Amino acid sequence: MKRKSFTLFLLIVLVVALTGCGVKETSGESKGFIGISMPTKSSERWVNDGQNMKKLFEELGYKTDLQYAEDIIENQTAQIENMITKGVDVLVIAPIDDRSGLTSVLERAHKRGIKVISYDRLIQHSKYVDYYATFDNFKVGVLQGTYIEEKLGLKEKEGPFNIEIFAGSPDDNNAYFFFDGAMSILEPYIESGKLVVRSNQTKFNQGATLRWDGALAQSRMDNLLSAYYSSERVDAVLSPYDGISIGIISSLRGVGYGSEDKPMPVITGQDAELASIKSIINKRQTQTVFKDTRELAKKAVEMADALLNGEKAEVNDTKTYNNGKKIVPAFLLNPVSVDITNYESVLVDSGYYTKEQLGQ
Ligand code: BGC
Repeated sequence: MKRKSFTLFLLIVLVVALTGCGVKETSGESKGFIGISMPTKSSERWVNDGQNMKKLFEELGYKTDLQYAEDIIENQTAQIENMITKGVDVLVIAPIDDRSGLTSVLERAHKRGIKVISYDRLIQHSKYVDYYATFDNFKVGVLQGTYIEEKLGLKEKEGPFNIEIFAGSPDDNNAYFFFDGAMSILEPYIESGKLVVRSNQTKFNQGATLRWDGALAQSRMDNLLSAYYSSERVDAVLSPYDGISIGIISSLRGVGYGSEDKPMPVITGQDAELASIKSIINKRQTQTVFKDTRELAKKAVEMADALLNGEKAEVNDTKTYNNGKKIVPAFLLNPVSVDITNYESVLVDSGYYTKEQLGQ
């Protein structure tokens, strides 16, 4: 009898100890569980965004699940579903396609009390987006347009200058902001004839590049060059993103641009990706727009932390980002134009890149 009750006692101790450990292990004593859904690893910026957020969340004591969907919409939906099943408290999502697929999964998230932060790109058509952390996307375009205006000397020179226009992915709300921002500067010159678009393709849809695909941009540029520039020269190309700029540059080099007698046109970009900064140093790409992903990650983490503490997050825009169901309160960070003259002070001095990474 005595031995039996002792065994029972031991058993209870063991069970208590084990379940105690079990609880500890699943919660990991974390303050909460964050699902981070990023679009693709094929562009450096998203890799940095994801890593930066993961690090910051973990430093604050949160557990994270970071997933990349390789630009496949169904992957992203499945990954988010999975995060919901695993019991995340907050979802931070940079959508691949902002218009489809996520509405029902976000409804499910909402029913479970999960908060949602739209990261960099706005999720459309859902009431269940709590905050939006992004950059001033219109300004990104203004910086690109203004750079072309200044580099070509449009204010003082007579011209005309030839330009071709590229836009981003039509399923990404940001792409329209970039385009409208750039065109707000360039359109008056196109109307007055100082800028000539020889292809006449000046509309967003004519210049759009699905999934921001550089190879697609390259083949469009090949076509433009052979159809409209056999005897004329391109003076500038509006490119919304570094990956697209790289494609355009390959195409231009293919027909001899980049030599002494055929210098590269002015080519813009965005994201300050390593390959493009090197290209700027090598005088191929002319400009890019730096968006400090460290700052954006910090903002998203602050928003999630506020939501989980029942507080309001800091926002600086409550008017611009209507997703069709609500105006999503947003924090817009400041983008910065970068070229050969300031890449060192903006990117190296701030520790975003080391000199070694730039091959210096
Ligand atoms: C982002 C840009 C990026 C582009 C392609 C946009 O939504 O705002 O920074 O260049 O997607 O990934």
